[in-house]
Amino acid sequence: MAQVKVYNLGYDPETGVGELLHTTTVRHALGMIRREVADPVEMTIIEDRIVPTVLELTRELSGAWVEGAGRRSVGFSYRAVHERDHWTCAYCGRSVSKTPPCEALLATVDHILPASRGGCSSWTNLVSACKECNNRKADRTPEEAGMPLRVDPYDPACSYRVGGFAERLPVLLSS
Ligand SMILES: [Zn+2]
Repeated sequence: MAQVKVYNLGYDPETGVGELLHTTTVRHALGMIRREVADPVEMTIIEDRIVPTVLELTRELSGAWVEGAGRRSVGFSYRAVHERDHWTCAYCGRSVSKTPPCEALLATVDHILPASRGGCSSWTNLVSACKECNNRKADRTPEEAGMPLRVDPYDPACSYRVGGFAERLPVLLSS
């Protein structure tokens, strides 16, 4: 499968000089472009489709960029779940807060698979949710409740941040 190189801001396509951060899949690269985390700087054509081969981050990544890359775990807490999810409800997409303008938007943490049914408190089973959605979902899975997740919950140990974005690393850096 084709791999896309991701460079820090400052990549020079003329000379190919830049800071290579990691490589990723075409699919993930397209997601980064859509999220405006990175811009395509070199492309190729594969099976009549234009696909990126080199991306450049839209903002410069500083030294403290790797939040672990699988080597260090990020402190787990309900607050950290909200921060990972940018204080946004995983079901309706509204902003949540500990001091919301209305009760419905109170920040709660939802177990995707309910705790009462064996769901654990882990990065991948918890998402930020507004009180209204959490109450509506109750003791059901998202499928049962007909409330699809808008996000793919992940362990921040496998991510880095660019500006306000936590960008998941599907391919870990080789150390
Ligand atoms: Zn909601």
